[in-house]
Amino acid sequence: MISIVLVGADGRMGRAIEAAAATERDVTIAARVDQSGARRADSPDGASAARGLGGVVRDGDVVVDFSAPEGFRAAAEVCRARALPLVTGTTGLGTDDDALLDEVAKRAPVLRSANFSLGVLALRAAVRAALDSLPATWDIEIVERHHRAKVDSPSGTALALAQDAARQRGLGEDAFRHGRSGRVGPRQTAEIGLHSVRGGSWIGDHAVLLAGAGESLELRHVAEDRAAFAHGALAAARFLATAPPARYALEDLLQHRGRSGVHR
Ligand code: NAD
Repeated sequence: MISIVLVGADGRMGRAIEAAAATERDVTIAARVDQSGARRADSPDGASAARGLGGVVRDGDVVVDFSAPEGFRAAAEVCRARALPLVTGTTGLGTDDDALLDEVAKRAPVLRSANFSLGVLALRAAVRAALDSLPATWDIEIVERHHRAKVDSPSGTALALAQDAARQRGLGEDAFRHGRSGRVGPRQTAEIGLHSVRGGSWIGDHAVLLAGAGESLELRHVAEDRAAFAHGALAAARFLATAPPARYALEDLLQHRGRSGVHR
């Protein structure tokens, strides 16, 4: 049984992971951590609200974090100190956070992904394939839509798509154009446009528009239910439970599909 400590348990993703775990036989949510406190389900004294994450983790747990940058940092510090596997989907992290993940990965397996849906993994592969077969004169624009409560823009997935495209075109992140308000003059070829739309309850919608002279191509993924991310995060937890210390990507998990039992 894979024992999960869920950070951000009261949030939208936390609740989706809880629901997904209830449908999978080999995972259990052993502890729930949020800003309100930390609770271990099997603790003999019931709740341990005052002790925080460090007070509820046990050897053998896998920490799964979908919270906010501060929650991520607390989770990463505990995983580093206790050598516990860490799955994180929290977005809006900076380069210092990435360095912290490298530190954790010296002692424990770590998997970070801006998007745990298998459909987005396929979208990224499709975009790379399309760019491979199109001339570099085609323009790349990324449009993402999310619910009105999302705090970071652009989305981590839009950034990952832009980074993939930049790598393929030999561009740096200085080529990214976040909206075009105030800009005068024609679009440059060596640009990748990113546009964030916020409103209502959209769960996650990413479109990559490739535009040439007289024709265009649009590749799009729409997440309709957070279960799409939740099952991916649980598959990652299952994979890390037996993996040696290192940084992993979602692609690594798919390569081990037979062994790790990815269910979706
Ligand atoms: P949310 O606001 O609904 O939930 C976040 C939860 O984290 C809240 O309950 C909040 O109280 C808690 N939290 C904040 N700071 C904390 C801290 N220091 N310690 C413990 N808990 C803390 O947000 P959400 O929609 O559930 O998304 C959470 C994160 O996951 C965001 O960064 C979001 O962008 C990301 N996300 C990633 C994926 C993916 O596939 N990688 C998918 C959806 C959302």
